[in-house]
Amino acid sequence: MDAVRRKECGRYVAELFAPEDDVLQELRRELAARDMPEIYIDPEEGRLLQVLLRAVDARRVVELGTLGGYSAIWMARALGPDGKLITIEKDPERAELARDLVERAGLADLVEVRVGQALDLLGGLAEEGPYDAIFIDADKESYPAYFDWSIANLREGGLVIGDNAFKGGGVLEKNAADPGTRGIQEFNRRLAKHPQLTSIIVPTRDGVAIGVVKRS
Ligand code: MG
Repeated sequence: MDAVRRKECGRYVAELFAPEDDVLQELRRELAARDMPEIYIDPEEGRLLQVLLRAVDARRVVELGTLGGYSAIWMARALGPDGKLITIEKDPERAELARDLVERAGLADLVEVRVGQALDLLGGLAEEGPYDAIFIDADKESYPAYFDWSIANLREGGLVIGDNAFKGGGVLEKNAADPGTRGIQEFNRRLAKHPQLTSIIVPTRDGVAIGVVKRS
């Protein structure tokens, strides 16, 4: 299949399986209006996250890298009424916007936005675990550290998910200089080789890496 047709198939999937409702459309407009970098996930990735969370009956989920709360809203909608998503954002302004949008989406009871550097907050988060799923979408340089933390804090059968697993194609570079690219490459290696994981990268626009912790 050529690249154009492939892109059209992506649109076909999004339209059929992941149409944005009014809340998500408003959110996207809001994020665009605020000059938020366009690095939030695609609707079909949001839907993929929902499918994964439902498949493991996820109730306790951590997200590293909130941005404007777009992915948090997709994920929170796949949790039951007793579910909880803790999402970490380093930028206080973005965290505030995310809180506002989550509230407007009627999900304030399910989502807690915490402000700080993810690496600084992981110790406290560990005490509240283990978790059913961990979605990593923060600074790419720290992905290997986030991976190690995730493995230590997931339940059996839980999911570690990493966004931007292709790093815009950078993962193909042999001797990448960019620390973020190197971080993703190392994350992918650890994900692929870990004896306790069954894992893969789903080739969405920029790749979603998924590993499930085997049951002993
Ligand atoms: Mg991302």
